[in-house]
Amino acid sequence: MELYWRLPVFVQEAALSFYAGYLEKAYYGDGYEDWRQKFENWQTWSRTDAEAWQSERLRALVELAARRVPYYKMRWQGIDWKSVRSPADLRILPTLDKQSLRQNEREFIVEGTEPKSLWMDKTSGTTGSALRIYQPMSMLPKWWALVEVAIRNVAGVSQNMPRAMMGSRTIVQGSAAGPPYWRFNRRWRQLYLSSYHVSKNTAADYVQALHDYGSKWITGYGSAIAALAESALEAGIKPVRLRAAIVSGDTLLPGMRESIETFFGCKCFDSYGQCEGVSIAMECPQGRMHVVPAAGILEILRDDGSPCGPDEVGEIVATGLLNDVMPLIRYRVADYAAWAEDQNCACDNHQPIIANLEGRVDDYVITSSGRKIGRLAGFRRSPRIHSSQFVQDSPGHAFLLVRAGRDYSAKDALAVRDDILSRIGGLDIVIVEVPEIPKTPQGKTVSVVRLADRPEMRETYARLLGSASNHTSTQTAVGASS
Ligand SMILES: [Zn+2]
Repeated sequence: MELYWRLPVFVQEAALSFYAGYLEKAYYGDGYEDWRQKFENWQTWSRTDAEAWQSERLRALVELAARRVPYYKMRWQGIDWKSVRSPADLRILPTLDKQSLRQNEREFIVEGTEPKSLWMDKTSGTTGSALRIYQPMSMLPKWWALVEVAIRNVAGVSQNMPRAMMGSRTIVQGSAAGPPYWRFNRRWRQLYLSSYHVSKNTAADYVQALHDYGSKWITGYGSAIAALAESALEAGIKPVRLRAAIVSGDTLLPGMRESIETFFGCKCFDSYGQCEGVSIAMECPQGRMHVVPAAGILEILRDDGSPCGPDEVGEIVATGLLNDVMPLIRYRVADYAAWAEDQNCACDNHQPIIANLEGRVDDYVITSSGRKIGRLAGFRRSPRIHSSQFVQDSPGHAFLLVRAGRDYSAKDALAVRDDILSRIGGLDIVIVEVPEIPKTPQGKTVSVVRLADRPEMRETYARLLGSASNHTSTQTAVGASS
């Protein structure tokens, strides 16, 4: 990263295009076209076809896991895994939580796997440390074929149309005082916009870049794209017309959707997935979220592990069907949803519909210069920090709540804070160690709490932060100007 910052912009952009060339081979190379055709009509698969596909994949994966994956070999002793023939039989197997995966990552890899054949992805949740997910290289064309037909094409766009992206990558330094707040990947005609420099003052530059680079659609975190739309509307900038906005990664609140649709003059499609690659769901033009059966088997469970009825919110438990080097079976994703009461949709898609997707409720923090920073994922995390949360009490000022993990020391929290400041700047961050991260009244853990928007939680934090301030040794206040 150090080296990247010292390079001139055009060299940084050449590096991005070069890297995209490498990804292109991995994602869109051998097998991609065949898989794209195979998945092309996924929406019109009948329930029977979908279940047949799932059952076949499931049987193969369960057998692989039981015979050749150390974790399951041990954990499933005494379980009649051979009787798992279809998705409905899954419930005889135990569920798997993130903590067990984190502690035993390597135990989930099929014995005898050649490390060179693996592709590694890190998850980016703001709480807890990142997980390393391994996939066979051969899974990538399948996955990206599915992304193309089940996500982009549903929104009427495709990989080969110029697009803008707002994700967690920091491609522009936090201290940048003027444009460009983006880098252009020529190979994919992908305009990568910084999520960390959006404000009323910079919005016009962003919008000009969308025009200059001919972006036809935009994708990334809903909170970041909404922050751009809101800042542009606030600044009185003439709306841009795009073909679609496709958001994922955090909860799309109704106000965010409205801002995006107003400013970009197109439908905002919400999509759902995770780095673990265990399930995908995509909103259709009717505004309903259909599960993509080829990616994984999705269950929605009550706390006692029984399946939820229609319209009953429960935890999402997913079994990925495409990864046969690190099978995740009945994996608790830590998101919540319900099966929609009405499973019929006016669109052509026959696949099951979920509703009330939540658990990824994120929020902005606002820097001292009024920049809205959406989704704080992607920052350095420490395996010694159990979980963390931002609590913003006023613009430019926030608390970083840290729950210590094993071998934790104050240095770990400082490193996280410094990483954040180096990227975004303009925020005073006070570190506070807490025994537990408070949950919302709905029982959800969120990574950012802006007290101005959550009056119901003010008392909880007043108590927590009030008592924490008595222990000055655990606190560090450092100012940073933007
Ligand atoms: Zn539909």
